[in-house]
Amino acid sequence: MERFPMYIAGEWREAASGEWFETQNPYTGKTWALVARGGEKDADIAVEAAHKAFTTGDWPKLNASQRGALLRKVGDLIAERAEQLAEYEVRDNGKLIAEMAGQLRYIPQWYYYYGGLADKIEGEVIPIDKPGVFNYTLHEPLGVVLAITAWNSPLLLATWKIAPALAAGNTVIIKPSEFTSTSALEFVKLFEEAGFPPGVVNVATGFGGEIGQALVEHPLVRKVAFTGSEAGGVKVNQAAAPGMKKVSLELGGKSPNIVFDDANLDNAVKGAVAGIFAATGQTCIAGSRLLVQKSIHDQFVERLVAFAKTARMGNPMDMDTQVGPVTTPPQFEKVLSYIDVARNEGAQLALGGGPATRPECGDGWFVEPTIFTGVNNAMRIAQEEVFGPVLSVIPFEDEEEAIRIGNDVAYGLAAGVWTTSLNRAHIMAAKLQAGTVWVNTYRAVSYMSPFGGYKRSGMGRENGQAMIKDYLQTKSVWINTETEFPNPFAMR
Ligand code: NAD
Repeated sequence: MERFPMYIAGEWREAASGEWFETQNPYTGKTWALVARGGEKDADIAVEAAHKAFTTGDWPKLNASQRGALLRKVGDLIAERAEQLAEYEVRDNGKLIAEMAGQLRYIPQWYYYYGGLADKIEGEVIPIDKPGVFNYTLHEPLGVVLAITAWNSPLLLATWKIAPALAAGNTVIIKPSEFTSTSALEFVKLFEEAGFPPGVVNVATGFGGEIGQALVEHPLVRKVAFTGSEAGGVKVNQAAAPGMKKVSLELGGKSPNIVFDDANLDNAVKGAVAGIFAATGQTCIAGSRLLVQKSIHDQFVERLVAFAKTARMGNPMDMDTQVGPVTTPPQFEKVLSYIDVARNEGAQLALGGGPATRPECGDGWFVEPTIFTGVNNAMRIAQEEVFGPVLSVIPFEDEEEAIRIGNDVAYGLAAGVWTTSLNRAHIMAAKLQAGTVWVNTYRAVSYMSPFGGYKRSGMGRENGQAMIKDYLQTKSVWINTETEFPNPFAMR
């Protein structure tokens, strides 16, 4: 069985306790590797290493252009190894090779983009209102940044944090999900190959409540960039508060995907499927509430069910598979339990509704693409994140009701709108409480465009130029240009 030790200060290390934990392939249901189970001692070692690399050695001596060049180099290496890295992702999280290979080929863009920004972090000269002083700002790195990721897109989510953090001059510890740790341990080799000094990028593995918590609490960690569940985000935020750490949280969602009767319905059907069955519904931006205008409700549901029925399930390593397994056994149980919840609440099953027993699904943790109609937005199935291939269809009368239902959840990560009316598109974009609104498309993200949540979907943003400021702190420098120091008892 393959063993994956941690990567700290440029060295491969077993956990201080000598313990390992199993990682499983969701398609076969079998354990395929062992990963080091880090604890408090390992957290200390990792943070000390990252802090040392931040304060001494070659990293702080590099100028910003040299940092940028290293980032671009690692982008090139990721592009070269995209397919191989994607295979690690699929083996651990069961997402489709077709999607993950594309994702890995796109990830280099983050390193090129933030690599380009590294030497454009400029301070300002402030035309200060007081005589005899010269005032300017410096934007300086924070120190050790902790990047904690969820299991659904491990390298993409890590990249959203690592690329800007390194461009800004910080050092990084990646704490991948205990369900999908191996890809980060392969990925980190490319940083070494690109020439990043030891200790600048580290990977510490283990469970959230063990090494994760110890890392968050460590006094030398200055920022925690977290992607995961709402419950995990709350714990991390609480643990970071006494240390006055910067925290960004990318959490869950219950996003409305809203179809008006004037929409191009062929595209809207595809958009509904993209929203909930792509990635087996295991995306934070899943369009898990499909709001359909009453005038087209029945015909739209019929077309959607017919299309969703054709989705090919099976081995995620086959290029033509469209729906893969659920990533983890607890998640598999959770998805099935929500199907029961919906049934018990009185929702009507229009498709699926249980584990997939098709022969092509082998021993994997597969759930049939599931559609419930007759859902009322007050039901738990409409309010709580399932994070699986389970869609709730909710009818609405008009724009006003679509906005009311769309916003009537605790979350606010994303929303989709399907309409051919330009006027309506802008009204909906303005009124929906979500960090991202897509009109006539779904699940589009880019390194250039800010991403993040309203309400309980999180705090802060990732991606885009402005975001680099989240990995910097501003210093205001005052230089007296007069020869004398005036009255010391008065404020200057
Ligand atoms: P999770 O909260 O269980 O775990 C996420 C990460 O946090 C893991 O690495 C885990 O080990 C760590 N962790 C958990 N408790 C911790 C603690 N007390 N201290 C430190 N670290 C801790 O979430 P998950 O099940 O891995 O991921 C699924 C969730 O992630 C879903 O809710 C999904 O919507 C969300 N998600 C959000 C985004 C986004 O960008 N908004 C993207 C992907 C996934």
